[in-house]
Amino acid sequence: MRRAALFHYAIPLEAGTVLRDRRIKTRSGLLVRLEEDDREGWGEIAPLVGFSAESLDEARQDAIAWLSRWCRGEPDSESRLPSVAFGLSCAQAELSGELPGEGNYDSALLCNGDPDELIDRLRKQRATVAKMKVGLYEPVRDGVMVNLLLEAVPGLTLRLDANRSWSPDKAARFAHFVASEYRSRIAFIEEPCRTAAESRRFALETGIALGWDESAREPGFTLKAEPHFRAVIIKPTLTGSLHAVSQRAELAQRAGLVAVIGSSLESSLGLTQLARIARWLTPDALPGLDTLALMQQQLIRCWPGSALPVVSQGELESIWQS
Ligand SMILES: [Mg+2]
Repeated sequence: MRRAALFHYAIPLEAGTVLRDRRIKTRSGLLVRLEEDDREGWGEIAPLVGFSAESLDEARQDAIAWLSRWCRGEPDSESRLPSVAFGLSCAQAELSGELPGEGNYDSALLCNGDPDELIDRLRKQRATVAKMKVGLYEPVRDGVMVNLLLEAVPGLTLRLDANRSWSPDKAARFAHFVASEYRSRIAFIEEPCRTAAESRRFALETGIALGWDESAREPGFTLKAEPHFRAVIIKPTLTGSLHAVSQRAELAQRAGLVAVIGSSLESSLGLTQLARIARWLTPDALPGLDTLALMQQQLIRCWPGSALPVVSQGELESIWQS
């Protein structure tokens, strides 16, 4: 006997959360629960505004159609909508026991705020990798900040993310301000320039390694080794089913690249699943999942060590069940 339920959530975000130049106050999404015999599996379906092609409403309709067929036992293929395919495949993988329970909860610490406090946190944390967004301010400020952190915390490696915000000139100015002896401690910079060609040129000229995030999800992109190309960010909510995610990770690893599982601002339920996926599929890479601090609540499952209040299953808004 199969049963399924779909829940809607809306989590208040910390004031001042900005996503692609847009201030957002709440993160909305869906949770799905599958039940069969005595087992159950959960998944999160949460298209990200500004990043996902599908809307939450489209995801909801598609998920309900899929779940209805699943409850009737009809054979089915994966949803074409990446967020739906991801959430449903997680719920199925929990149901079947395919998704291992253990996770990698050490994430690259997201660097923002007061430098003194940040340096203090970095010195205390176990992992020696941190992530810093660049390109929001003047390149000189970013360059100075990178120097400051790398100088203050020996052994620290930085992942930078410019989200395609620099012109070639600004990118060059940033590199100019980073002391040359520190460049090798930049593990990679994601998407420094507006186009992939400009980013490649930047990497060639500065020796700073590249990571692809947005570019890797564009149609026509093929994952292969290139000079100065070091890492690919895999965001499952924007990629598709667990099968698609594992194929991507395998392809990257075969090309000698670091595959990093990254979050798309999922709730604690989705984030803990991403930590498990990271440990399972990319055991050698530290995932990029340090986004829970932007939220004011957790859902059902707790991120280890988080003191945020937890919304229980009974408090969720049920929008469909069968
Ligand atoms: Mg990125």
